[in-house]
Amino acid sequence: MSSNVLSDKFKQKVLDSFEEGLSAKEISDKLCSDYSKETGKVLNRNVCLGIKFRAGKCITTSKVESHYRQRKSRITKATKGYIQRKCLCCQKEEWIEEHCRICPTCKKSESFKYSSEEFQFVQR
Ligand SMILES: [Zn+2]
Repeated sequence: MSSNVLSDKFKQKVLDSFEEGLSAKEISDKLCSDYSKETGKVLNRNVCLGIKFRAGKCITTSKVESHYRQRKSRITKATKGYIQRKCLCCQKEEWIEEHCRICPTCKKSESFKYSSEEFQFVQR
């Protein structure tokens, strides 16, 4: 019985082919026989894209880094009484008052006013 779990070697082959500039369709044609040997299934472009996606190759490292840097630069310096935590409202990491769960930006926004009752239940 063939395993459904792909070997790292096969995944690497797919990723290498993407690096070479092949499309998902071309890769599925190229590695089809290897794939069916490993899994007993037919390799299609969605499988290739899935491997690429899971390996994090869809977003280039530099993009992720610059996104992270942008986010980080928005966070102001630690202030006494504030801790860094995920805002319950906007889900962003912000410096938030220790007794609060909502970032200052959301606190000021209209949406917070309307949903504040809901958040009380979420608080510890
Ligand atoms: Zn927020």
